[in-house]
Amino acid sequence: MEVRFQQVEKHYGKFVAVKNLDLTIKDGAFHFLLGPSGCGKTTTLRMLAGLESVSKGAIWMGGQDVTHASPQERGIGMVFQNYALWPHMSVRKNIEYGLKLKKLKGAERQSRLDDAVEMTQLTRFVDRLPGQLSGGQQQRVALARALAIRPKVLLLDEPLSNLDAKLRIEMRDNLTRIHRETKITTVYVTHDQKEALSMGSAISVLHGGRLLQTDAPRALYHTPNTGYVASFIGESNIYPGTIQEIHDGEGVIATGFGALRGRLGPGSFQVGEACEVSLRPEAVLLANAGRERVNRFQGTLISTSYLGESEQWHLSMGEDLTMKVHVFHGGATPKPAGEQVELFVHQDDVLILKIDQDLGQGT
Ligand code: ATP
Repeated sequence: MEVRFQQVEKHYGKFVAVKNLDLTIKDGAFHFLLGPSGCGKTTTLRMLAGLESVSKGAIWMGGQDVTHASPQERGIGMVFQNYALWPHMSVRKNIEYGLKLKKLKGAERQSRLDDAVEMTQLTRFVDRLPGQLSGGQQQRVALARALAIRPKVLLLDEPLSNLDAKLRIEMRDNLTRIHRETKITTVYVTHDQKEALSMGSAISVLHGGRLLQTDAPRALYHTPNTGYVASFIGESNIYPGTIQEIHDGEGVIATGFGALRGRLGPGSFQVGEACEVSLRPEAVLLANAGRERVNRFQGTLISTSYLGESEQWHLSMGEDLTMKVHVFHGGATPKPAGEQVELFVHQDDVLILKIDQDLGQGT
């Protein structure tokens, strides 16, 4: 079911937690709300669930205005960060809870329970109490309880944050499989960009209550619309600069370590405009002797970290500028600090961005 936020705001007294949110979540999407702590992710989710009132604007589900509908009327399933299971009830009773509230009985109740238990692979555990389960198993019970009511939209609020790294990766696969099987429109809140990039069909990046960008994971990584998004999704080197030339979606920007030719990001640019430029650490390459002429520059090594398959170099670019570079074939012997290094970056990997006046320059 499609979900639409139309100029939605949430005010707590004078504080605006969510500002003018216009967002469409497509039917069947696995849509992530991603951003740092306090950016308004949970508030947005809770407004959609009907657990928090909307101060301005409207929320639509499948073409119906649900802004003032009760949580029950919205047909939403939700999994909270702390799972919120009843400790004195067995796994079966926990999962059945929502079905009882919906007054479902007999064969219908049983078949929904069986489906949810099977989908979350909990068959062996149905008679246990939550306290007799691991964190990952409790998480699956919370998910089964949300799925059993066959929600039109499933909301997940940091569902993996209490699990260790290995379980988190296992549960990512589980959630992806369940979404593939059920095709339920799912909205997933996280501050973990890896979760969002690996699982999402779309990601919305929020900052300070504002939606900065919504895109598919690859588009978001390849063409972030601000320096903030470029740094939040993966890593990026961001530098201030001035536009020198513009032609056909390409530009030349003067930076503190020379001119760079690159792609122009979204928006309209003018010669002489102050902008910023984003270079991914893995896109900066060691220059071959005498070959590349454009986008070639020098840095001085400050330090290196050897990671086996790659190395991370930290370089000084002069004028208080530094650069992080991921080098994949750095050679068998380590390079000493202080060495001059010739670098190069393809034109398509140089992204020139407008400065977001509200966010300011860089990160
Ligand atoms: P986290 O990842 O830490 O959960 P979040 O992005 O989900 O963060 P929200 O919980 O949506 O952030 O909170 C957004 C902002 O609104 C925060 O600054 C928070 O302090 C504020 N806020 C949330 N609930 C209330 C409330 N009941 N009264 C006042 N301010 C609130």
